[in-house]
Amino acid sequence: MYAEKISKIAIVAHDGKKAEMVAFLKDHVNELDGIEIIATGTTGKHVAQAGLSVDAKLSGPMGGDAQIAAEVAEKKVHAVIFFRDPLGKHPHEPDVQMLLRLCDVYNVPLATNPATAHLLLKGIFTEKGKP
Ligand code: PGA
Repeated sequence: MYAEKISKIAIVAHDGKKAEMVAFLKDHVNELDGIEIIATGTTGKHVAQAGLSVDAKLSGPMGGDAQIAAEVAEKKVHAVIFFRDPLGKHPHEPDVQMLLRLCDVYNVPLATNPATAHLLLKGIFTEKGKP
C-alpha cells in the first residue's frame, strides 16, 4: 500500500549536510511547489532562507526529530527527506533512529541522501502531473 497523495513532506539535515540540503532545495523548487514542508528547527531556518515556506519544529537535539516522527505515525507527513551526516556524532541519535524506524513501520517514503531525494521528488512530481 503506497501513500495516495503526498502533500506534506518533512526535511531534516544534520549540520554537516545543511549546505548540501539548501543547494538541493534550490534545484528542486518546481517539484516542491504546492507541497507543505515541515522541518527541524535549524534546518527550517535554512529552508526559509532558501525562499520556501516551512513549519519549523524544535531543533533536532531538542526534540524536533521526535515531533516529526509523531507526525509520521499520525500519517500527517507523507515523505521524509533526511540528509544524514554519516561521519558525525549526534546526541539525539535515538530520536533519529525512531524517525527512520517509524518511516518503515508506516511505509513512508524516506530519502537519506540527495540522490534518493531527487528520485523521490521526481516521483512525487510525476504523480502530481497525472490527470
Ligand atoms: P536541526 O536538527 O535542523 O535543528 O539542526 C537536525 C537534526 O536532527 O540533527
